[in-house]
Amino acid sequence: EQNERDWTDTAPPKKLPKGVVLGPDGKPCRTCTDVASWFAMTKGSKSKSAAPPVLPSDCPPDVETLGRSSWTLLHSITAQYPEKPSPDLQAETRTFMSTFAKLYPCWWCGKDFQAWMKMDGNAPRVSSRDEFGRWMCEAHNAVNVKLGKKEFDCNKWEERWRTGWKD
Ligand code: FAD
Repeated sequence: EQNERDWTDTAPPKKLPKGVVLGPDGKPCRTCTDVASWFAMTKGSKSKSAAPPVLPSDCPPDVETLGRSSWTLLHSITAQYPEKPSPDLQAETRTFMSTFAKLYPCWWCGKDFQAWMKMDGNAPRVSSRDEFGRWMCEAHNAVNVKLGKKEFDCNKWEERWRTGWKD
């Protein structure tokens, strides 16, 4: 049952064959599934092909395209965040992150992200641009680790998302 999953449960829940994940409505969830698995299901092939399929730019996003676009938005928000935000903006930003996770269109990604934010020390830190940028970097790294990807050096978050690389 999706509500009982916790952060340490790394496998996507309730999968159809070929990595297709169901949505809360019991139907295949496109934004929860990678494009190779989706195409394997819809085009009826027996397995994923050696060459990864390319998602046409005018098609609904798969879980990876959605993720890249979302991280671009989130890190860009931190890059433009004030150095000294008002208490009201800080409260709104905390609410935004909580609502963002609730509405995230890959439901199991969003559930895990909500669970991660509730863990000790992981609540959004929003009292300055640098603090929020580093927190977002740590949040992204938590997902990177979950997915077996390399962690990003959070000392470089601002070069990556605000100023551009120094060299
Ligand atoms: P991305 O991880 O999308 O990163 C984009 C770029 O950001 C990278 O090229 C790099 O330059 C930079 N970057 C990488 N790490 C950091 C960092 N820590 N700080 C700053 N910049 C960084 N996918 C799943 O399959 N399962 C999930 O449970 C899942 N949960 C997600 C939860 C959230 C809230 C979001 C926004 C996305 C989630 N995704 C999930 C998508 C996943 O994180 C990736 O976006 C997707 O797999 C594509 O990865 P990518 O390697 O292209 O680069």
